Amino acid sequence: MNSALKQSAQKEQPAKTMQAVNKMLARVEISSEQIPLLAETAFAFKAPQHFIEQIKKQPTADNPLLKQILPVAAELDSVPGYSEDPVADLTFNPQPSLIHKYHGRALMIASPKCDIHCRYCFRRHFPYEEQVNQRHWQSALDAVKADSSIHELILSGGDPMSLSENALMKLIRLIDDIEQIKTLRIHSRTPVAAPDQAPRQQFLSWLKNTRLKVVLVVHCNHADELSTQTEALFNLYRQAGVTLLNQSVLLKGVNDNVETLQQLSHKLFEQGVLPYYLNQLDKVAGSAHFEVNDEQAIALHKELRGLLPGYLLPKLVKDIVGRSSKTPLA
Ligand code: SF4
Repeated sequence: MNSALKQSAQKEQPAKTMQAVNKMLARVEISSEQIPLLAETAFAFKAPQHFIEQIKKQPTADNPLLKQILPVAAELDSVPGYSEDPVADLTFNPQPSLIHKYHGRALMIASPKCDIHCRYCFRRHFPYEEQVNQRHWQSALDAVKADSSIHELILSGGDPMSLSENALMKLIRLIDDIEQIKTLRIHSRTPVAAPDQAPRQQFLSWLKNTRLKVVLVVHCNHADELSTQTEALFNLYRQAGVTLLNQSVLLKGVNDNVETLQQLSHKLFEQGVLPYYLNQLDKVAGSAHFEVNDEQAIALHKELRGLLPGYLLPKLVKDIVGRSSKTPLA
């Protein structure tokens, strides 16, 4: 067991969190006795009501949305090759909150929180308390300003849309003031998982007027996550001039078959979002039960290529530490 999990295993998951898990399971008519649940973890169960409402009443083994959020005992397995910082975020971290790995763009971890806790999250062990605080914003942006090669800023997470609308507005206005930044990319799961909680009024009117090109990369792994509410929200963003892309993670038992991936691409397109990346799982401790190996992933992608037009085929990529960009696998 790695150190964070060891430490977390000593903590009792608050009773109210277990109550929330049991309430969700009761809603989908699954008995908690059928599943080896993880009763104690620092990366607690968290899911917004909207996401829970999209979960179908079917057994856990065939339940792609439930699997993404349900803390299970397999997360405590110690598996060689799985670590707490699988993509070496902390090696490319010139300032708190800032990650600079690739030419031309830098990433700011804007918020320590997410509206949903995805069990496969590659930042599930990230030291958010030390790293992410609004008081670091100015020094992180000063470091961006000092490097004239950076023209794109990525807001990532935690989820930037978990910030209050006022805090998000403060941050993006600071970014807008940096002349060399031409593109603002926002990575967020909130528009899919909690479309009712995504920032609205000030944010949408700023989007309509900013000089920046704004790209919103949402995170959706299965067509069942898309709803009439997500479609309505995506429409608002599109009307505000935002380019909408999706990234998924290839997850065993969630979307590791060609029909599911095909449906996902079509439904994203129906809602005005283009599939961008299909990420291979980053090997973060606690997530090994989600792994699809590279050979299987490449074979799936090849099959998918034969079924989808090129513009609906996401790039199959892997984050390999030390490379100058994500590595295409197929
Ligand atoms: S929303 Fe993104 S950052 Fe947050 S837990 Fe899920 S994968 Fe991780």
